[in-house]
Amino acid sequence: MTPVYDEIIPARAPWARVVNAGQTLRIVDLEGNQAVDFLVFNAHDHADRYSASNTMAAQKNIFLVTGSKLLSGEGNVMMTIVDTNVAYHDTIGGACSPESNTLRYGHHTKHQHGCVDNFLNAGSWHGLGKRDMTSNINLFMNVPVEPDGSLGIVDGISAPGKYVDLKAVIDVLCVISNCPQINNPCNAFNPTPVRAVIMTG
Ligand SMILES: [Zn+2]
Repeated sequence: MTPVYDEIIPARAPWARVVNAGQTLRIVDLEGNQAVDFLVFNAHDHADRYSASNTMAAQKNIFLVTGSKLLSGEGNVMMTIVDTNVAYHDTIGGACSPESNTLRYGHHTKHQHGCVDNFLNAGSWHGLGKRDMTSNINLFMNVPVEPDGSLGIVDGISAPGKYVDLKAVIDVLCVISNCPQINNPCNAFNPTPVRAVIMTG
């Protein structure tokens, strides 16, 4: 495949770009244990957007693995995970925000930058606002679910150089927050850069 775009997304930074049908977006966890919060919209109809519940129900699995199809609220397949060397990716844990940080970690964390801030920033480049924020995917993030249904955000299962390849089935707008969280182990308490590559062929 031929790279047509290749960029480093700095630690804590937002990112958004259209990936055309047939192209593959590769995200590389450069230094390991870096959560990448990820939203997908139909590039031509932003109301048709990623649905965590439809995606989990369709594949009867709460984890995203090679072969997982990312479904929209309308039931359309938007992207397919065609390859990854991480055991699974999360779609339950949601995005961090000043509100969730305050609730979980105390009022002293209210000023800290969160993924929702990044989503709103990157989304604004494409006309998206608060009403367009939906439950997101957490690439590389480890959110195990225990037999009793409880879940945790624990030390990562990713490592330096691990990647995920997402092939666009339709033209999609991908919005990323390279997670700035420093209060739990999702980024090993040290947010780091990731690499985004768009490939054709
Ligand atoms: Zn986050």
